[in-house]
Amino acid sequence: MAQERSGIVMVGSANMDIVFTVERIPQPGETLLAESVATYPGGKGLNQAVAAARAGAPTTFVGSLGRDEHGGELAVTMTDAGIDRTLVRSSAAPTGQAFIVVADSAENTIIVASGANAEVTALTEPERAAIASASVLLMQLELPIGVVTEAAQVAKSAGTTVMLNAAPARELPDELISAVDCLIVNEHEACLIGGSDDLAEASARLAARVDRLIVTLGSDGSALYEGGVELARVPARRVDAVDTTGAGDTYCGAFAAAIAEGRDLESSAAFATAAAALSVQALGAVPSIPGRDRIEAMLA
Ligand code: ADP
Repeated sequence: MAQERSGIVMVGSANMDIVFTVERIPQPGETLLAESVATYPGGKGLNQAVAAARAGAPTTFVGSLGRDEHGGELAVTMTDAGIDRTLVRSSAAPTGQAFIVVADSAENTIIVASGANAEVTALTEPERAAIASASVLLMQLELPIGVVTEAAQVAKSAGTTVMLNAAPARELPDELISAVDCLIVNEHEACLIGGSDDLAEASARLAARVDRLIVTLGSDGSALYEGGVELARVPARRVDAVDTTGAGDTYCGAFAAAIAEGRDLESSAAFATAAAALSVQALGAVPSIPGRDRIEAMLA
């Protein structure tokens, strides 16, 4: 008898974000002294897995960490969030790093060294088995596109719901998008992947390629599409935003958790909207991701 499927498998990236605060963005050839430097757990995969786990979903991470200090710290972040990391690979390559320079004007520049993340080029048998028995497979585009496509196809043929947050934006190969059940993009990604500067037009094109599409609209909320047509708009919660970094990641993780427990599209989007609104009220990506109790209190 088939085992009952449950939980979320995340096939995604984990990075250590190294954030330098500077007066202004340096010019080519220039050396500047930073006002401060700090490290934070990051990577869209890790952020979204933390959001899913804190929202109450059993969450298994498939990805890769280096055998270095950053890898150890990110493993602790996963454990603290309650993420199952038995399938996380240990790589000879360095843990992924994002070097983020933030100027006083809030302008930033980011350089990502994928490191161990780039080593995930194909799935192992235990990883394929975990995907096949999950309720939802959640992914982004920070791992090699070949493994993202492979995971989507494994999930699709096993009946696992395939959710893709197409970030960072890139063209989606047909063999990938044809295996996606639910695509989540922000406005910028929608326009880039949908191939139009007109958001409505780009969204309509994307909606025609997947069963379900969510376009997040920042403080304007999100638009839900099903079967190629717009089903609903979910307004954002009115809150005092302090730091919107990671709002999209919180939305995706919480949305996946809600779908995994059997909620419908609209109530899952409402749950995700509450989670994202809570996340923008505190600094940082991972530290600001709310737990289930706070999400439910906001919805009550
Ligand atoms: P991304 O972080 O990927 O750019 P968005 O900016 O579209 O994603 O934000 C994702 C979701 O987070 C939105 O759909 C909304 O529900 C919520 N959100 C974003 N900014 C705010 C804000 N200022 N106030 C309340 N909710 C917000």
